[in-house]
Amino acid sequence: MAVLNIENVSKTFGDTRVLEDINIAMAEGEFLILVGPSGCGKSTLLNMIAGLETITEGQITLDGRSVNTASPRERNIAMVFQFYALYPNMNVRRNIEFGLKMRGVAKQERGATVERVAKMLQIEDLLNRKPAQLSGGQRQRVAIGRALARDPALFLFDEPLSNLDAKLRVEMRTEIKQLHQRLATAMVYVTHDQIEAMTLGDRIAVMHAGRVQQLGTPREIYDDPANRYVAGFIGSPA
Ligand code: ADP
Ligand code: MG
Repeated sequence: MAVLNIENVSKTFGDTRVLEDINIAMAEGEFLILVGPSGCGKSTLLNMIAGLETITEGQITLDGRSVNTASPRERNIAMVFQFYALYPNMNVRRNIEFGLKMRGVAKQERGATVERVAKMLQIEDLLNRKPAQLSGGQRQRVAIGRALARDPALFLFDEPLSNLDAKLRVEMRTEIKQLHQRLATAMVYVTHDQIEAMTLGDRIAVMHAGRVQQLGTPREIYDDPANRYVAGFIGSPA
């Protein structure tokens, strides 16, 4: 079970400071939300956790090891993006098992994993289709399936539902919540939607202008907002 620690982390692009002194210690199996308006630094922080972006100051460790010293694959982190990034020329089955194949997992075991994941996400009927033959919601299920197949120690989600329609978003939100309850794997989930944040998160980091304005449970944030920004954000439209 992975434990993530973000300590005194800042980030500069050129002369521009985009993140300032971020401190978050995640509990085992926690569902942590990073929420805030566009441009506040959510993706940058997530990419730093994934080891895809350099850290200007401070450190991020996963199980005590700096995230800079190993690749995301070695650290067994799986990431799901807003735009699914499926392999367009591979059918759903191959999309899901590709990562396992790269890691040398035997064919029979790959097949079993695909079946298990497909069942969990209710995409058994789609295994032979190409991404272009899927709806937005189906594609995002496949992207989540691909992450699941790797049995990661930590899931990172970057606005995975933000280009789905409202009804589907609510449906998928419930599914992701159930998935977390079932797996008990730690998840860091980025969104700009405060309702999504309040319904999914064990704890929420409310971000604004490169800083964490408040870190707390939905209850704490709702009952006792740390400042006017947080108070104004809760209850605002998505
Ligand atoms: P969010 O995901 O919250 O919308 P981002 O983390 O993408 O925000 O971006 C935070 C800030 O950093 C923005 O002002 C953005 O323009 C800037 N930024 C992000 N990536 C880069 C980059 N590679 N080079 C320069 N500026 C960047
Ligand atoms: Mg972003």
